Amino acid sequence: MTAGRERVCVIGAGPAGLSAARAFRRLGIPYDQYERHSDVGGIWDLDNPGTPMYESAHFISSRKTSGFFDFPMPDSFPDYPSNRLILRYTRDFATAYRLRESIRFRTAVDGVERVDDGWVVTLDDGTRHEYGAVVCATGTTWAPRMPALSGDFAGEIRHSSTYRSPLEFRGRRVLVVGLGNSGADIACDAAAHADTALVSVRRGYHVIPKHVFGIPSDEFSERGPTLPSRLEQPLFRALLRLLQGDLTRYGLPTPDHRLFETHPLLNSQLVHHLQHGDVAIRPDVARLADSHVRFVDGSTEEVDLVLCATGYDWSIPYAEKYFDWRDGRPDLYLTAFNRRHHNLFGLGYIEINSSAYAVFDHVSNLIAQYLHDQVHSPDGAARFDRMIASDRPDLSGGIRFVNSPRHRSYVDAHAYRRQLARVRDRVGWTDLTPGMFARPTAPRGVRA
Ligand SMILES: Cc1cc2nc3c(=O)[nH]c(=O)nc-3n(C[C@H](O)[C@H](O)[C@H](O)COP(=O)(O)OP(=O)(O)OC[C@H]3O[C@@H](n4cnc5c(N)ncnc54)[C@H](O)[C@@H]3O)c2cc1C
Repeated sequence: MTAGRERVCVIGAGPAGLSAARAFRRLGIPYDQYERHSDVGGIWDLDNPGTPMYESAHFISSRKTSGFFDFPMPDSFPDYPSNRLILRYTRDFATAYRLRESIRFRTAVDGVERVDDGWVVTLDDGTRHEYGAVVCATGTTWAPRMPALSGDFAGEIRHSSTYRSPLEFRGRRVLVVGLGNSGADIACDAAAHADTALVSVRRGYHVIPKHVFGIPSDEFSERGPTLPSRLEQPLFRALLRLLQGDLTRYGLPTPDHRLFETHPLLNSQLVHHLQHGDVAIRPDVARLADSHVRFVDGSTEEVDLVLCATGYDWSIPYAEKYFDWRDGRPDLYLTAFNRRHHNLFGLGYIEINSSAYAVFDHVSNLIAQYLHDQVHSPDGAARFDRMIASDRPDLSGGIRFVNSPRHRSYVDAHAYRRQLARVRDRVGWTDLTPGMFARPTAPRGVRA
C-alpha cells in the first residue's frame, strides 16, 4: 500500500473531476486522479461505455453562460454547442492546465474505505492506496432508471441511455416515455426519422425555447434584473404564451406547477414537430401487449420500440455506505461536504437551474481552500467543520420546487451563489477571480 495522507484522491475525470484538479493545482495540493475511461470528458465522450450521450445532443445551457470559470468557450462556437464541441472544449481545458499528467486512465476505483482518520482507495488492479481526502466526481447519469411496464411486449424496450443515433429509428414506430430534456430531444429525432413518433407523459411541462428574441434564453434571463420569483414567473409565463400559444392544443397536459418549479425543459424543436404533426403526445402507459401499447386513457398504439427517457438513479457505488441517502440523493453540506465523514467530498451531485461547469469551479474552490486551511490555517478549517456539522441553509431561493424525489434537493442558482458567498465571508476564503488560474501552457483558443 502506498502511503500518502497528505495527498488527495480525485475519482473521475469528467468536467467535475477536472475542475477539482485545477483548483488543487492552484493551491499546490498534491493529488492523484483516476479515470476508468481512456480520456477526459465524462459523459460527453460518446465512446465512454455507458454514457447517456447521443449524436444529436447539444448543450441546453448556452455558450456564454456554460464554460469553466476563466476558460470561456470560444466565440466561434454556436450559441448551443454540440456534444462534440463540448467534448473538445473539455479536453482543451485539460490540456491548457496540463491536467492529464496527474490522471491514471483506464483505472477504475472499486472501493473506498475509512481507515483511522484517512481513506484507503482500492483500484481495479487490486492495489490499495492511502489518502487524506477523497473527492468523488463520478457523475450522476450512469445507472439508468427503468419504469415498471407491465405486460408482454413483442417489440423492443430500452432505456434512452442506450440510444445513440436517429438512424436507429428508420422504419420503426417509436414511443418515447418521459419528456425531460433528453426525452424531448429524442422525440424530435424520432419525429424526423421514425415512421411514427409518440411521447408518453405523466404531467404537463413548460417548454422554454432556446432563444427569446434571438438571444439564448438563459442569457436573456441573466441580462435582465433579478426579479423575485413571484414576479419572474408570471412575466415569463406570459412571454411564453405570446411566443408559443397554448400547448394544450397539441395534447400536452396543463402543467400542475408554475414555471421554474421543475428543472427547465429547453427545446425549440418539439413545439415545431407538434405543430406539424410529426410527433404526438400520449398519456401514461397502462400496459403492453404483443405489439401494442395501451395508455391510461384506454387508447392503444402499435409500437416497435419503447425508449424510456426516465432518468437515472444516483449512486456512488465504491463508497455508498459513507453517504446518507435521502430520496436517492446524498445529504451533503452545500452539495459537496459529507457531514459524517471528514474529508469525503462529492462533486457534481447537484441539480440546479443553471449551467454546471462554473458551479463545479465554485465548489472546487471551496474544497481546495478547506483542504489548504487544514494544513496552513487549522482555525479556519475548524470553523468550517462546525458549519458542515450544523448548517442547513435553504437553497431553494423561495421557489417551491415540485414534490418529486428529483426536486427535493434541487437548488436555485442565485440562492446557491449567495450562500457560497456568505460561507466564504464567514470563513475568510476568497472568491474566484479572473486570471487566478495561471496556465502552465500559453493560452490557446479552442479549435472550433
Ligand atoms: C444529455 C445531457 C445534456 C446536458 N446538458 C448540459 C448543459 O447544457 N449544461 C450543463 O452545464 N450541463 C449539462 N448536462 C449535465 C452534465 O451532467 C454535465 O455537463 C457534466 O458532464 C457532469 O460532469 P461530471 O464530471 O459530474 O460527470 P460525468 O460527465 O459523468 O463524468 C464522470 C467521470 O467519472 C468516470 N468514472 C465513473 N466511475 C468511475 C470509477 N469508479 N472510477 C474511475 N472513474 C469513474 C466516468 O468514466 C466519467 O469520465 C447535461 C447532461 C446530459 C446527460
